[in-house]
Amino acid sequence: MQIVHVSAECYPVAKVGGLGDVVGSLPKFLNELGHDASVVMPMYRSKYLYNHDWEVVHKASSNLGHWWFDYTVIKEKSDAQGFGLYLIDINGLLDREKVYGYEDDVERFCAFQIAFANWVCSWDTLPHVIHVHDHHAGLIPFIMQHTYAFKRLESVPSVLTIHNAQYQGSFGWDKTTYLPQWDSWKRGMLEWQGAINPLASAIKCAWKVTTVSNNYLGKLKHMSNGLEPLFEYEKGKCSGIINGIDYEVWDPQKDTYLDHHYSEKTISEGKSKNKELLCKEFGLDPNKPLFVFIGRLVGEKGADLLPQSIYDSFQFIGRKMNFLVLGSGETEVESGLSLLKNYAKQDYNVYIGYNEKLSHLMYAGADFLLMPSRVEPCGLNQLYAMKYGTVPVVRATGGLKDTVRDVGENGGYGITFLNTSVGNITHAIFRATELYHQKETFSTIRKKIMALDFSWTRSANDYVNLYQSFY
Ligand code: ADP
Repeated sequence: MQIVHVSAECYPVAKVGGLGDVVGSLPKFLNELGHDASVVMPMYRSKYLYNHDWEVVHKASSNLGHWWFDYTVIKEKSDAQGFGLYLIDINGLLDREKVYGYEDDVERFCAFQIAFANWVCSWDTLPHVIHVHDHHAGLIPFIMQHTYAFKRLESVPSVLTIHNAQYQGSFGWDKTTYLPQWDSWKRGMLEWQGAINPLASAIKCAWKVTTVSNNYLGKLKHMSNGLEPLFEYEKGKCSGIINGIDYEVWDPQKDTYLDHHYSEKTISEGKSKNKELLCKEFGLDPNKPLFVFIGRLVGEKGADLLPQSIYDSFQFIGRKMNFLVLGSGETEVESGLSLLKNYAKQDYNVYIGYNEKLSHLMYAGADFLLMPSRVEPCGLNQLYAMKYGTVPVVRATGGLKDTVRDVGENGGYGITFLNTSVGNITHAIFRATELYHQKETFSTIRKKIMALDFSWTRSANDYVNLYQSFY
């Protein structure tokens, strides 16, 4: 089958979080199963763009309301990622350094989606499935089904995957003219709570909707930033498919970002070397257990509670452990974490920013990965951590609940806690520190988590079954 993925992110071209990882790997595994999957995304000014060769496959123009724009579709010549990678260039709109965060994001992503529909409409043979990801591509199912200009796409099945329902891309009805003409009585297919809501529209218009874990789908019916009733109404077409991880990229035996590689057999030596490197770089003590946090510094991830939890751990457990935080996000959280350095210099450090290489070294060098998330659709960090023998310390929610079992359970291999609260986090850190000192048990757990299989094989098959259900 020919499947076209449409997304704002795709690793290694442009990644802000898990969406990029998933879109950068799922198509490769679909292709390994004998399908023809490709990715279409905006052409940002990314390093990847300049380091690879491209060919122009289509040039045309379209319009965003009264504004006509030219667009160009380019394809990476060598299919280096294991799938066809297409970038849409709209001069002045998409060719920026960052993926998101501009005042005209609504215009940028609307124009991208219109250009995409315009291009696909010109194909001789239409794809079997158009698979859109999150709200940046969320207007596409509506455009395909309800606009006059793109009527040709009406019969192409569409799938929406929700990686994060907190962000919905809502904008006012004053911008309705951006969309190609449609019958005004279909307003309800775009609207949610008085605005045009691309995520809600995709939930209504896509033929099938998936979320990145089963547990998250259940959560969305109670907590989805205003969309709760919609998930209840549309539950018949929704299902959860857990993300896999790409062991070509995430494997301590061949990770290109690491100087010291290791396997289950050489884990002890391998992790020690990476830990020493990390501790040296950040002025930490390699003899103490090392807890790391990697991610967006936002309330969703429980990052606002990190400074107090780290402080309380030192107060109540003692200065028996190190912490290292990597991330960027809300200003108050960033400054709280930076200020904490004045209190704890030898056993705490923080790197504010995005750093792919450092994240790999942290997964490899840490003893524990902290994830006190309030919301976690799937969570990839805990899966990467386990592959690197780093024990996850997580709040049992969403995908974290689906993938991490507490050591207290028979056969468990991680540390879980119930609430995103300072008390719960500190207690989990206490339990982890105790576990670290039970050398034999700790070593068995590390080897066990490295051997767990979170590959794409099963999940890619689940997507194929979903696509095949249309035919
Ligand atoms: P999100 O909700 O942010 O998408 P996920 O757990 O699904 O969370 O995915 C997060 C991905 O982003 C992981 O690959 C993680 O290593 C990466 N990541 C997050 N923040 C940073 C950062 N500051 N530097 C490097 N990688 C990061």
